[in-house]
Amino acid sequence: MGGSPHPRSLMRKLLLKCPACESVLKETAVNFSGRRFRCPTCNEQLYVPRSYSARFVVSALFISGLLCSAVGLRGIALYIATIALWVPILFFELVPLVRVLPPPKIKLSPPGT
Ligand SMILES: [Zn+2]
Repeated sequence: MGGSPHPRSLMRKLLLKCPACESVLKETAVNFSGRRFRCPTCNEQLYVPRSYSARFVVSALFISGLLCSAVGLRGIALYIATIALWVPILFFELVPLVRVLPPPKIKLSPPGT
């Protein structure tokens, strides 16, 4: 009786919406690296602006450098270890950071090809 509540709409943990059909996208369905991906609902080509993913890249480099200097690395060893740790940290930080930072503005891919 009455309107049935939609518990899903009350959960506002991470709202990634398709700009074309306004359906909620799963974070696993979104490509954060700036590549195009398709909306699973309307099949529209979408992308996350590079400026958003650039934040992850820069912060990963920063975290990596801090970690390496914290364990006592200096000079060329610090430099090499920072680069070596950069990529795994980039993957590792993506999940928590996506929840902390405001969600990316997903855009319609410009027509081309
Ligand atoms: Zn869509």
